[in-house]
Amino acid sequence: FRANPRLPSGWYRVDNLSYSSSGFDRGHMCPSGDRTVSVPANSSTFLMTNMVPQAPYNNQVTWAGLENYTRGLMSQGKELYVISGAYGEGGSAVSSGITNTIDNSRVTVPAKLWKVIVVLNNGSDDLNRVTTSTRVITIVLPNINTVNADWKTYRVSVDFLEQETGYDLLSNVPVNIQSIIEAQVDTL
Ligand code: MN
Ligand code: MN
Repeated sequence: FRANPRLPSGWYRVDNLSYSSSGFDRGHMCPSGDRTVSVPANSSTFLMTNMVPQAPYNNQVTWAGLENYTRGLMSQGKELYVISGAYGEGGSAVSSGITNTIDNSRVTVPAKLWKVIVVLNNGSDDLNRVTTSTRVITIVLPNINTVNADWKTYRVSVDFLEQETGYDLLSNVPVNIQSIIEAQVDTL
């Protein structure tokens, strides 16, 4: 875990100790286990710019459960596009009490963590292979330690997440296909 040396000069650099004693985990957005092709690739996932303060049970059980499920899809011949992030302010690293910021107010503790996973079969020309029946898994998790262990209980539609965040996700996909796949909630 280390500060990202490429941040512009003058920017505060969150470092390996910034979350110390906060109760929150240094929660990877891109998982270490997804970048094992080389030592530099794996090491890059430990830059603090890849982290958010994440409630430990959320990180180690629920979020990790989806990460493991995702890698399982990889070994079934799937090719995945994974987008993740966080929004809001205020999380809980223990069973009660909300923390809005850590590191002397320099790091916001998000209220929610989200992930969108587009599931394709292995292949090329990916954008043109996204259809109205493409599987999309979207979750929004509360950043609390009493989160349910099963990520599947937190599935929502991309449309819901777009309303929450103001983002237009999957924006390279043709609008007529976005409108169908973004309204679905995964049930597999
Ligand atoms: Mn994690
Ligand atoms: Mn969209």
